[in-house]
Amino acid sequence: MFEKVLIANRGEIALRIHRACHEMGIRTVAVHSTADADAMHVRLADESVCIGPPPARESYLNAHAILSAATITDADAIHPGYGFLAENADFAQMVEEHGFGFIGPSSEHIRLMGDKIAAKKRMTEFDVPVVPGSDGPVANVEEALAVAKEIGYPVMVKAAAGGGGRGMKVARAAGELRQAFALARSEALAAFNSAEVYLERFLAQPRHVEFQVLADHHGAVVHFGDRDCSLQRRHQKMIEEAPSPALNPGEREQMGRIARRAIAAIGYRNAGTLEFLYEDGNFHFIEMNTRLQVEHPVTEMNCGIDLVREQIRLAAGASLGYVQGDIVTAGHSIECRITAERPDSFAPSPGRVTAYHPPGGPGVRIDSALYAGYTVPPHYDSLIAKLVVHGDTRARAVLRLKRALNEFVIEGVETTLSLHRRVIAEPDFINGAYDIHWLERFIAERP
Ligand code: ADP
Repeated sequence: MFEKVLIANRGEIALRIHRACHEMGIRTVAVHSTADADAMHVRLADESVCIGPPPARESYLNAHAILSAATITDADAIHPGYGFLAENADFAQMVEEHGFGFIGPSSEHIRLMGDKIAAKKRMTEFDVPVVPGSDGPVANVEEALAVAKEIGYPVMVKAAAGGGGRGMKVARAAGELRQAFALARSEALAAFNSAEVYLERFLAQPRHVEFQVLADHHGAVVHFGDRDCSLQRRHQKMIEEAPSPALNPGEREQMGRIARRAIAAIGYRNAGTLEFLYEDGNFHFIEMNTRLQVEHPVTEMNCGIDLVREQIRLAAGASLGYVQGDIVTAGHSIECRITAERPDSFAPSPGRVTAYHPPGGPGVRIDSALYAGYTVPPHYDSLIAKLVVHGDTRARAVLRLKRALNEFVIEGVETTLSLHRRVIAEPDFINGAYDIHWLERFIAERP
């Protein structure tokens, strides 16, 4: 087992990884930018190294600085968290080549799944259903028009290297495709340094349903059921729950089986998530995330498992030690992502937190690096806390969520707490009757 892990991240996820390490008796190394010298992930770690100035590209995205920090602190493995370098295959390869353990999949698997066109192709080889679309990259507008005619409008132009909801444009008719194509390409080039795009049919009212898998180095694969992440703004998840209110047990069983089979077939290892759009009883694979997800706690709460601990164990070469039949899922969990943003305009609201009181009590979990007196820096993602609740049933989880959101006090910065309180009071949310477009509509209609 590893003795010292360097955590190449910040905020709540750095803390989450630190907690798993300490419960396993593993010492931790925090890395931080100069803007994060007072951050909780730095305070709690056994050691810390400043890796650069505030801009992420000079600190949290600086692979050389991170590898130097691992070398001088004599760490034996690196956990990338999510975001930053977590899905950067070159970084994973550098970590491997420098002789550190990478707590995640192999760089080859990150590379394969990082190309969404290649990932879809590979999945179809194992009978995983995908969204109908172009067979590969689409080079020009003429080709796009021909493909769109074949699959039918509306269509979505998507960046092959996409992530974070960027490089995605919808065309409802041929007249809109020229602009959508050009916009998606330029956004993709700016965000991912690759203008490669492909086309998919734009589904009218799907739900986003994903499956969590774990695989060891010896070919064993299990899944931990599904999560519904349909409540999104700008293709970014805001509230997630498990299990999905939309699936029946047969569908869940079938998709879990298909997901496991595909993961085993590609020889994947460590944690991963297969994302699907689910509409009219049909699943369509959209992509695979080769890392820990922000929303992993809803799965942990239902399954009584520590996914980060499992990631660390598996990266060290341990066997899973259990089979699919051993995994028991109980109750229902919901997560709210609370960000330091104005709840009306979503303008970032960095600044000093003057008061902080997180909710507690039965079935409530807070993943956050906040404390009273902390200053939320303006340089990074605005996620400041994840509130996760568990209940025996979905109805009880919703009541608990309402109670917990009402207890939550964060003062000094604007937060999306009030928006969450409004969303979960909506009959559609209470009934679990929403698709991926619901939240955008709600925000537009009731600003
Ligand atoms: P990213 O890698 O940027 O997160 P994804 O391919 O995972 O992109 O898609 C993110 C979200 O965008 C999905 O959860 C869904 O809400 C929406 N989306 C993606 N593809 C489609 C599609 N073909 N039809 C409708 N919505 C889509």
